[in-house]
Amino acid sequence: MKKEFVVIGLGRFGGSICRTLAQEGMEVLAIDIDEDRVHEFSNIVSQAVVADTTDETTLKDLGIRNFDHVIVAIGDNIQASILTTLILKELGVKKITVKALNDYHEKVLAKIGADEIVHPERDMGRRIANNMISTNVLDYLELSDEHSIVELMASKKMDGKTLIEMDVRAKFGCNVVAIKRQNQIIVSPMAKEIIQEGDILIVIGADRDIDRFGKSIL
Ligand code: ADP
Repeated sequence: MKKEFVVIGLGRFGGSICRTLAQEGMEVLAIDIDEDRVHEFSNIVSQAVVADTTDETTLKDLGIRNFDHVIVAIGDNIQASILTTLILKELGVKKITVKALNDYHEKVLAKIGADEIVHPERDMGRRIANNMISTNVLDYLELSDEHSIVELMASKKMDGKTLIEMDVRAKFGCNVVAIKRQNQIIVSPMAKEIIQEGDILIVIGADRDIDRFGKSIL
């Protein structure tokens, strides 16, 4: 069954979510208080309406409860974001994702029961800064404050060596969970797998261990 989404707030973040969901063929109800923004999305999503989501009756009338997932992407007004989330929660919406603007906002959202809280600007800033610092880090995914999955480019130094020769797990305490080689992906590579320069190693572990490993292969 197709999932049905509601996106509240059609700024850059909410708008980008709407476009992607619609491209993937999902049913999307897009809501914004601003008429021009709603008009912009009327041909993109299944339904676009002008509404102030801090008004409980409006949300009830839109049948918001029947949707699978509501995304609150109100970026400019913390009070409206919090109040909207609170009403959605009270109406019994199954899953609520909210964009937080700062730590204070996040704390309140967690307290009132938002299921998922995202910080797109902060996370993207961290990602870009990390990529700038380490020349061989291509991408990374934060698992917790101290653990990540990182894509590292295999250097000339590693070319022709096997994973066991490099002894990644014992020496650095992290694991190579996959290797990307051109169009191929080797999942759970064997210890005898021979690394080629330009391979992309997908490594999981504690940040400081991955950092040591990354520096050792430069
Ligand atoms: P971004 O940082 O993602 O670009 P913006 O701050 O530009 O976000 O966009 C947030 C959107 O949320 C705006 O289009 C604004 O009109 C909308 N919005 C703000 N308050 C409400 C509200 N109470 N109900 C519905 N939409 C709202």
